[in-house]
Amino acid sequence: MRKATRYKYYFQKHRATTLHYDLRLEMVGVLKSWAVPKGPSLDPAVKRLAVMVEDHALSYDGFEGVIPEGKYGAGTVMLWDIGTYRLLEEAGPAECMKRGRFKFSVKGEKLKGAFSLVRMRDTKNWLLIKSRDGEEKPGYDVTDEMPDSAKSGKSMDEIASAG
Ligand code: MN
Repeated sequence: MRKATRYKYYFQKHRATTLHYDLRLEMVGVLKSWAVPKGPSLDPAVKRLAVMVEDHALSYDGFEGVIPEGKYGAGTVMLWDIGTYRLLEEAGPAECMKRGRFKFSVKGEKLKGAFSLVRMRDTKNWLLIKSRDGEEKPGYDVTDEMPDSAKSGKSMDEIASAG
């Protein structure tokens, strides 16, 4: 296993046209981003759709607040989870993205341990799957049980009304 470089990890909760979660992983100088409609599951039997969306700049770093109407992603954004991750692969980030399959270990406030991201052939659709590593919690709905911001402790409504 290559030496464990730790990279930035974010999971934002985003109330735009619909509520979804945005997973962002620092890779090759940008934040690779996936929109996860249902958010993460801690049950290894559950595969969550994760649609690759446009990269964000590393400087985007940790945004929480309200994106005004008319702007890309207009709506309320919460820093639902924040931390670091490392790849559990021999290959580096660029190679992992190219082959569309990699395992990584998260050290967040809410999510802990290993997950896989697996791209479905020739699409922007990936699957986010919790690994069986002792950190899995089948039957525990992490998005329901831990709904508030890892950064501020605020709820979506509190962030929205703060403007
Ligand atoms: Mn979003």
